[in-house]
Amino acid sequence: MPIRCEIVSQDRMIFEGDVDTVVLPGAEGEMGILPRHAPLLTTLKFGVIKVRSKGKEEVFTVSGGVAEVQPDIVTILADAAENVEEIDVARAEAARERAEKYLAEGPPPDSDAYLKMEAALRRSRLRLDAVRRYRGIGGPRTTLSPTTEDEE
Ligand code: ATP
Repeated sequence: MPIRCEIVSQDRMIFEGDVDTVVLPGAEGEMGILPRHAPLLTTLKFGVIKVRSKGKEEVFTVSGGVAEVQPDIVTILADAAENVEEIDVARAEAARERAEKYLAEGPPPDSDAYLKMEAALRRSRLRLDAVRRYRGIGGPRTTLSPTTEDEE
């Protein structure tokens, strides 16, 4: 029996489907969700969501948000989320450079602009890091044992 998974952000639907497992970066750490999981609500840290279905895994970056788990559905409301296969690397690099340059100029650390740029830097680093670690690993993974999945 699968569990439904929906990942949405303010501007779009990022993923919907019936899947076998969902791994989330929950407030208390990484959480694995299987069908018939007990209901819960959690905030999400910056990190990756791994959705596995029929031996195929898809990985999404998530820049915070909330997840609601019910026994038959996981609903993720992300502040921003992207499938790692769809991340525009040039765009993320440009965002990182823009933020690094701005922060290097020494703006007041408690100003709104500083906090916004710091958050933009974290999002760009998350996207670039996830592309490096996870891009191209989707698809049937019959040659990999499950224990290799979370290695650095
Ligand atoms: P940028 O400065 O490049 O817009 P950002 O971090 O400010 O980056 P967000 O506000 O987090 O962008 O996201 C706006 C929308 O653009 C969201 O739908 C997000 O998923 C998407 N997005 C942001 N950066 C990328 C990227 N590098 N590749 C693909 N989609 C992206």
